[in-house]
Amino acid sequence: MQNLPEEIANLHLIISLSNIIFKPMFETNEVKNATQVAGPLEQMATMDHEQVLFCNDPDTGLKAIIAVHNTVLGPSLGGTRMWAYKNEAEALKDVLRLSRGMTFKSAISGLNLGGGKAVIIGDPHKDKSEALMRRFGQFVESLNGKYITAEDVGITTRDIEYVAEETEYVSGLPESRGGGGDPSPVTAYGVYMGMKAAAKFAFGSDSLEGKQIMVQGVGNVGYNLIKLLYEERAIIAVSDIYEARLKAVSEEFNVEVVNPDSVYDQNMDIYAPCALGATLNDDSLSRLKCNVIAGAANNQLEDENRHAAMIMDRGIVYAPDFLINAGGIINCYSEVIGYNREDAYRKTEHIYEVTRAVLEESRSNNEPANAVAIKMAQARINAMQTVRAKR
Ligand code: NAD
Repeated sequence: MQNLPEEIANLHLIISLSNIIFKPMFETNEVKNATQVAGPLEQMATMDHEQVLFCNDPDTGLKAIIAVHNTVLGPSLGGTRMWAYKNEAEALKDVLRLSRGMTFKSAISGLNLGGGKAVIIGDPHKDKSEALMRRFGQFVESLNGKYITAEDVGITTRDIEYVAEETEYVSGLPESRGGGGDPSPVTAYGVYMGMKAAAKFAFGSDSLEGKQIMVQGVGNVGYNLIKLLYEERAIIAVSDIYEARLKAVSEEFNVEVVNPDSVYDQNMDIYAPCALGATLNDDSLSRLKCNVIAGAANNQLEDENRHAAMIMDRGIVYAPDFLINAGGIINCYSEVIGYNREDAYRKTEHIYEVTRAVLEESRSNNEPANAVAIKMAQARINAMQTVRAKR
């Protein structure tokens, strides 16, 4: 480096330092090359996170990240997702975005909970074990209640029981163990309520009878949503990348099965994203032919501002994801304070009214529905922060 001009030598030093500071915790070849990605602290600062815990245990193969976004309203609660992320950067981005969404979700739903989320890097069909889940439970315990976990994509109620062997900070336990069970049916009920409110806004009636609805992802929530839509005589198309799920759903219900690659080219009244996030992007929005978007998936908008604006410009009614998929967290919260199934469903039904209020304000202010919902959630957090300061 001695022979280099001073500014190039300095640059080299800065790049070397940033490689040390932002060296990924779990190295993969792709991450080794991804020096242009902002480091964890920088990403936390951009999205306003309180704490992120990286968990590594070679004995069980556990590689996990727990993100605590905001605890103004209460302990952070959010499910654990297990997914075969391509690399650590992708997992970190996901957990940071998901935990932020949980903050807004609990706030707009009137719950005394903050936002948090966890991801486990691995294939849920191959890499899971009792030991891995219990080791993960020990990491949850180490946060002393600042984060409470539950099920999300790739995690079952049985897995949560293993986690509960190591920590009391869990919800989503089976009813036989005093919990509220799998939150997915309640989540589906809330999505259904939000979809009906959006349909009323778009079509003048909240009846879904005869509406063509495309359900993308027929997992725990998608399946329960289909049940409700089927009872209301909607015309349902489904798509999934997991053959076994598709087979089960198409054997039970009269549904059309659509190839995952052609979902956005179908004729439909309502698109219900119930798989993973970021399906509302430049590509899908240039192809989608629908009047309403209402589904369970978290973080549906790839870019929160750009794609919310595109949806509005196209005249599509959008029911914000974190608002209408709050049934699961409402169910988990009920478990934390003493489970009451009726009360959880009653609170979830209220999603209809909140969605209506958000869509009305969106129309009168000419502002995307997602932005309106975030403002409502943030207003509650700010108000409660003031109250808390006076304790
Ligand atoms: P799940 O794992 O049971 O189901 C997800 C399904 O999506 C799987 O069958 C998977 O194969 C499928 N999928 C993945 N990629 C796909 C693609 N490209 N095209 C089509 N299908 C694809 O998960 P879930 O519990 O049903 O959750 C679904 C979504 O709802 C997730 O985004 C989750 O974060 C969100 N959510 C779930 C709950 C809950 O209570 N389970 C609560 C709130 C939000």
